[in-house]
Amino acid sequence: MDLQGKVALVTGGSGGIGAAIALALARDGAAVVINYHRQKEAAAEILREVELLGGRGLLYQADVTQPEACEGMIKATLDHFSRIDILINNAGIRRDNLLALMKPEDWDAVTDTNLKGVFNCCKAVLRPFLRQKSGGRIINISSVAGITGNSGQTNYAAAKAGVIAFTRSLAKEMGRRGILVNAVAPGMIETRMTADLPQQLKDTVLPHIALQRFGRPEEVAEAVLFLARSAHYVTGSVIVVDGGMSL
Ligand code: NDP
Repeated sequence: MDLQGKVALVTGGSGGIGAAIALALARDGAAVVINYHRQKEAAAEILREVELLGGRGLLYQADVTQPEACEGMIKATLDHFSRIDILINNAGIRRDNLLALMKPEDWDAVTDTNLKGVFNCCKAVLRPFLRQKSGGRIINISSVAGITGNSGQTNYAAAKAGVIAFTRSLAKEMGRRGILVNAVAPGMIETRMTADLPQQLKDTVLPHIALQRFGRPEEVAEAVLFLARSAHYVTGSVIVVDGGMSL
């Protein structure tokens, strides 16, 4: 229970990986703010699980593409728990298409959610982190697509590569204040986001994964937990959780 007394905010806590992260942090003693966008019931179910574990939580609806909504979410966290120690930027979407066919609105939606959302939430949390004078941890969920690139994902890969560059830059800015900023880059993880991928694509990808299987959300949460509670001398790093897919 290393995170006892700490408060964590997980964006996209209603989704597969976000829910696993929220539960892992709660199991370790943290109070968790579970952000959702459209799926209130899914988020409420995670809150129930947190409470069954004996933990404390709060649901908060916010669209991370909106700066005011992110400010409001951090304010609500402080009003409810009086502090914030850990921010997990996990909210994300994909709108895949070959560039020749990609609509500008699909470019905007993906970069606004996956990259600008990270900017909005980090900007909103920095002041409270600095005011508390007790450091702080930011963990951004990127993707292996942001490292290797992926056909049909120019928008997503560019946003996720941007998240890595953003992470490294903010780590440099905030190191002297004791604020650690890291990223996790998952490979193919079984969630709603990958559920609708064509079976043919999954069959093509599988042989390229050293561990010969897709990952589980809990396996991404293990890396996040390491960065959230241990990893005292780690900042600006990217942990790849892809079963060896990008080797
Ligand atoms: P899910 O589709 O299961 O969950 C996505 C989450 O993001 C949901 O909670 C959703 O909220 C939330 N979200 C979407 N748009 C917004 C928004 N504008 N504001 C706030 N929240 C929003 O996907 P995963 O759990 O798989 O993905 C989580 C993260 O992991 C994403 O950043 C994704 O890019 C990344 N990732 C996933 C991989 C995979 O294979 N699954 C691989 C690599 C990276 P709601 O449902 O309430 O609308």
